[in-house]
Amino acid sequence: MKINTDEYSIAIDDFLLRMEAIPSENHPDTQIALDKLGRLFHIALAKLDFYETPLDERQKNGNSLILYRNGEPDMTRFFQQREMTGAGNVVYYTFYQPADCAAWTNEELEKLRVLEKTIFAFHGRIRTMRLAEFMTFYDQDLKIHNLTYFIKHMGQIIAQGRIGDFAAAFFNLTHFSAVNQQVGRERGTEIMLSFIQQLSSDFCEDEIVCRVGGDNFVTFFLKSHLNYVMDHFSGTEITVDDITRPRLVISAAAGYYMIPEDCKAATDIMDCISAASNIARNLSKESFVFYDEQLKQRVNESKIIQDLFPEAIRKQEFQVYYQPKYDIKENKVIGAEALCRWFHDGTMIMPGRFIPILEQSKAICALDFYMLEHVCMDIQKWLKEGTPVVKVSVNLSRCHFGDMNLLQDILDIIDKYRIPHEYIEIELTETTTDVSFRDLKRIVYGLQKQGISTAIDDFGIGYSSLNLLRELPWDILKIDRSFLAEKPDAPEQNHVMLKHIIAMAQEMGIRCIVEGVESPDQVRLLKENKCYYVQGFLFDKPLARDVFESRLSQLSN
Ligand code: C2E
Ligand code: MG
Ligand code: MG
Repeated sequence: MKINTDEYSIAIDDFLLRMEAIPSENHPDTQIALDKLGRLFHIALAKLDFYETPLDERQKNGNSLILYRNGEPDMTRFFQQREMTGAGNVVYYTFYQPADCAAWTNEELEKLRVLEKTIFAFHGRIRTMRLAEFMTFYDQDLKIHNLTYFIKHMGQIIAQGRIGDFAAAFFNLTHFSAVNQQVGRERGTEIMLSFIQQLSSDFCEDEIVCRVGGDNFVTFFLKSHLNYVMDHFSGTEITVDDITRPRLVISAAAGYYMIPEDCKAATDIMDCISAASNIARNLSKESFVFYDEQLKQRVNESKIIQDLFPEAIRKQEFQVYYQPKYDIKENKVIGAEALCRWFHDGTMIMPGRFIPILEQSKAICALDFYMLEHVCMDIQKWLKEGTPVVKVSVNLSRCHFGDMNLLQDILDIIDKYRIPHEYIEIELTETTTDVSFRDLKRIVYGLQKQGISTAIDDFGIGYSSLNLLRELPWDILKIDRSFLAEKPDAPEQNHVMLKHIIAMAQEMGIRCIVEGVESPDQVRLLKENKCYYVQGFLFDKPLARDVFESRLSQLSN
């Protein structure tokens, strides 16, 4: 059969034009695009077989797709071409002809070959576009949408005038590095994905969850779903292993923003949820924070503190206050903790207001060294004057971890003032990540080697306490004051943990000191448990240097 050239070029033009607009291999418009050529060549069926790899091809483990079908039966004769994509996938294109039709001529076969190559090229372009879209809008690791997509999606909803129906949240999975340590990284990723999938399982098309990076995510959802999202973040059970089925409860700290109708830019939404989440993670007792006017003020205040800090430290606005530590058996002061107070414009600012903010940058490190240096200056002065001196503990933020010079910097300050090492103690808090654990280990061993004692501060409120206790040679365990609190609804549980922590530490040869002792009943309780070192308002609040000096002077009497 001779093909009519005019008809052929019209059919080819039509095919090329329509294929241009087709967004996926399995799009139904392929049937329409192939319509004229199909009829011209008497194609009964055109199909595509796709194999991920040549091995899948050998095992016939692939997917088939009908590209064109004209409904004619008995398709015995066919023409087939095998192709390999740049990514190593194998694709077959097969064109069938009805049995009762004259066989394709060589010229027709040649044209069919060209047609097949053209379809393959179109499909290649679709795959490339898909890959580009995947690289741009998806997280490569979890294969869920990324931040770029999140911003684009919110921009589209703003353009449609529907943004007032939605809320957004930036969330961070709580203690996820500890989860990774417990179950391994690969399993950790599965758990992370499962937590995200469960969240989005009840979402409609416009609601999304995207990964920012690491264990940080953002979500955009209908305001009517707020309770559902908050419930999910407050703790969701995830099954770790299908065989033994242990379960982990995963929770998240989140910053929310109820988006107003007049919101103009997706990036503004991003700014609000990141600020709120930052506060939820670092500065708030609650694990969720809503962006509102009050929060806006807090963000401003935090900026003001960060801006004021360099000048404040230059002008020595920070002062060391000393809170004595007591031996309640011997009734005497056995040490003190150096606590920072900031005097600015005639008011005293407590550390709770500025330390968490300074911890968001490395500014806290400068403050810690300043405090250590001022403590050393005071001790040097007392030693010179003949005032009795006790061991002073200095707090060191975990922001120092990772600083390879930390140990040397501490020693340089202490040695600059020729302070005997036994007068200094360093208080460190718990840590959850592998990296900081290694740093902590290096620092604790290093200090111990130099005769500087180390205390683990706020013990029991963190996460990896027992591990930390077993693996590092701490001198002192500072038990957090929350263990002294009475639980009115569970009187029999009161202080059970406190009792066991004290017993355990003593058995391990670590001395205990209990923070936040405020009542004679608590003193009685501690004596009953043979814990004799305390620090608390019942004995003394943190004292200005001159008041503390007079306490020290009394020691000689
Ligand atoms: P911390 O190291 O656990 O210090 C003990 C905190 O408990 C102090 O609060 C102290 O005043 C308070 N406290 C002591 N006894 C009692 C009590 O009987 N009842 C109650 N309710 N509280 C008591 P402060 O001075 O406000 O310091 C808070 C936190 O700020 C410190 O907790 C420490 O984590 C941090 N901090 C203070 N100064 C520094 C510093 O120079 N560097 C670093 N990195 N952190 C510091
Ligand atoms: Mg402390
Ligand atoms: Mg403490």
